[in-house]
Amino acid sequence: MRYVAPTSVDEARSLLVDNPGSRVFAGATDLIPQIRAGRPQPSVMVDLKRIDRLTSVSHRDGGWAIGAATPTAALTANPEFATMFPGLSEASGLIGSDQIQNRSSWGGNVANASPAADSVPALVANDAQVVIASAGGTRTAAVDEIITGPGQTSLGDGEFIIEFTLADMAAGTSDAYLRIIPRTEMDIAVVGAGVRLTMDGPTVAAAKIVLGAVAPTAIRVGEAEAALVGNTLDEATLAEAAEAASAACNPINDKRGTIEYRRQVAGVLTKRCLLIAADRAQNGTA
Ligand SMILES: Cc1cc2nc3c(=O)[nH]c(=O)nc-3n(C[C@H](O)[C@H](O)[C@H](O)COP(=O)(O)OP(=O)(O)OC[C@H]3O[C@@H](n4cnc5c(N)ncnc54)[C@H](O)[C@@H]3O)c2cc1C
Repeated sequence: MRYVAPTSVDEARSLLVDNPGSRVFAGATDLIPQIRAGRPQPSVMVDLKRIDRLTSVSHRDGGWAIGAATPTAALTANPEFATMFPGLSEASGLIGSDQIQNRSSWGGNVANASPAADSVPALVANDAQVVIASAGGTRTAAVDEIITGPGQTSLGDGEFIIEFTLADMAAGTSDAYLRIIPRTEMDIAVVGAGVRLTMDGPTVAAAKIVLGAVAPTAIRVGEAEAALVGNTLDEATLAEAAEAASAACNPINDKRGTIEYRRQVAGVLTKRCLLIAADRAQNGTA
């Protein structure tokens, strides 16, 4: 197995085209454990972290461009980012431990396509887009178009994610992310919930609710969103949204939680996230 560290997108693209069986990586916090567990070894490991664009974070012209190999610790430690996207920042700050977050990237979290990936519900709730390097140049896609099933993506051979783009959070809008794990840290989500709300005074003007770890991919809960828009977050509305979230789940039974438990927790987390996001949207994120 050969290790290479290209310094440009073009160089990385050529390496992938010229070396069938090669794999890109950023932090390798998923890839190395998977190889150690017996998954096929890539012929060439293409390290994306030496490419400036893939590790840079820029905020201009009403939006953000965040390199796909940027360590998630660099995002949670960025006060401007963490204030504008508190939920997405919290989701990024839940990945593993400090050591893991100094390496883990959104690119790896998305491309690894675990149903329990923490950044994914928060990225989808915030309409994150990705710029993808492909043989013919670049293309863009929404994050929820990338993940097609557990461990499966729509990325073609030789394609890799260059950066994520996010529009600035609009006035009166904020997000939240919560997850449940069986212990206090270093475990994967039994349920993750990402919410983004736009409030018009006490009334919900727009809502996005995305659940992780309760289906083969993160799922958007349209029925819960519809129950919220035009209403205040009173008990009845929150209960309706929570019920819709529980009903939308298609979870598995495993050692971390039963189907029934996951369904119930999905409703509870949805409700809690809605209250946090609404408070932030109305009163600021501090
Ligand atoms: C101890 C431990 C705890 C963890 N805890 C959590 C947790 O709480 N929550 C959570 O969500 N995850 C967790 N993880 C999983 C992992 O840390 C995350 O998924 C992380 O974000 C992966 O990022 P990475 O840069 O290390 O990915 P890598 O391992 O570098 O790559 C992962 C996969 O994505 C591909 N890839 C990487 N970058 C790109 C790109 N730019 N374009 C296309 N494909 C790409 C690689 O080829 C590989 O298939 C944990 C892992 C460990 C070891």
